Amino acid sequence: MSIDDKLLRIRFVVDSGTPHIIVDTTRCAGCSEKPCLFACPVQCYKMESHALVFNWENCVECGTCRIVCPGGAVNWNYPRGGFGVCFRFG
Ligand code: SF4
Ligand code: SF4
Repeated sequence: MSIDDKLLRIRFVVDSGTPHIIVDTTRCAGCSEKPCLFACPVQCYKMESHALVFNWENCVECGTCRIVCPGGAVNWNYPRGGFGVCFRFG
């Protein structure tokens, strides 16, 4: 089964207005390699107009970005109870 097939079996309950990850993008300009762009399995991190943009709504809560970020820019917490990712549908 491909990663795309597995991702199709995921559901999200988005806690609108309460992101469980907050990225301090003021630290990102000095980050030359930007490993978050390659490590996030669902591409929550993107470059737009030479600036890092983070969208948390599709996060699968793997915690990888928190580990690979060399600048300590990722403030990562679990979502509130009842919110976040749900696995193994379909
Ligand atoms: S790895 Fe961390 S510091 Fe570097 S661009 Fe990504 S979030 Fe910013
Ligand atoms: S926790 Fe995982 S899925 Fe969520 S933004 Fe970080 S790397 Fe991406």
